[in-house]
Amino acid sequence: MRKILNIGSLNLDRTLYVDKFVQAGETVRANELRTSAGGKGLNQSIALARAGATVIHTGAIGCDGEFLRAALENEGVDVTDIKKVDGANGQALIQVDEQGQNCIIVYPGSNNSITPEQIDNSLKRLQAGDMVLLQNETSNLSYALSAARAAGLYIVLNPSPLTDSLKKMNLGAVNCLILNETEAKGLTGCDDNSPRQLISALRKKYSDTDCLLTLGAEGAIYISPEKIYSCPAYKVKAVDTTAAGDTFTGYFLAALLKGEDIAAALEQASAAAALAVTHIGAAGSIPNFAEVEKFVQ
Ligand code: ADP
Repeated sequence: MRKILNIGSLNLDRTLYVDKFVQAGETVRANELRTSAGGKGLNQSIALARAGATVIHTGAIGCDGEFLRAALENEGVDVTDIKKVDGANGQALIQVDEQGQNCIIVYPGSNNSITPEQIDNSLKRLQAGDMVLLQNETSNLSYALSAARAAGLYIVLNPSPLTDSLKKMNLGAVNCLILNETEAKGLTGCDDNSPRQLISALRKKYSDTDCLLTLGAEGAIYISPEKIYSCPAYKVKAVDTTAAGDTFTGYFLAALLKGEDIAAALEQASAAAALAVTHIGAAGSIPNFAEVEKFVQ
């Protein structure tokens, strides 16, 4: 089976459950605090592994980050290319409100220690046709894009978090962009909320790139130069949407790696993400493949 290399963040997540998100100048009391393994990279690798993909994770942990390596190893992810560096681990401070919505502050920490040499060494482990998955929580993203392109790999980018430097980056090397509404608006400059306008803005700006636009409870739309696929979300009671997008990404790509077509991959991703939002937590809420199969029966 084709492999996937995820060059991605590994964070210590601190999740605070609040009635309402804190506003400027305000102090609010949290109802609960949970600490867990997280980071877009880690969540996506776990989703990929639970969906049955062969995953290599490249990343950097700080002196307090051994539990992150262990969390991935327990899922069967290849952790050979995770290095340990001096200093603090990447961390995320997550607020989850009563509606299950979240807002997140990420401190990169050790995730900023990924070097071109580390990227090159990991890329050597892939063959033509394998995939590389990237997000924007690690250093040297631009280098990773060009090195993966030079190696002839299929490149998937989740442009999150969307920073000014990412907005200025040449994304011509990317084969597939997986992005939510906010990221689509930020990248294209489109300020219209309607999916139709967002699709048209994405098609215009990324005419040679496939785009997978996720729209929360409204589902997802896959836009390729040839065809548009629409996939509604399952109707479930969401309690925590943290990692919904990461679950969707992991399940979608794992299905493609297994040879499924776009429509089937979207369907599996949508089911897995719907299950994830019905549970509290990030990585802990990602279902395994058997749970997803049972859910769609
Ligand atoms: P992100 O977490 O990156 O912002 P989205 O919020 O767009 O991503 O969610 C990704 C996918 O998760 C959606 O396309 C949908 O399939 C699923 N999802 C998200 N929220 C819900 C929900 N409330 N109910 C059912 N499915 C959901």
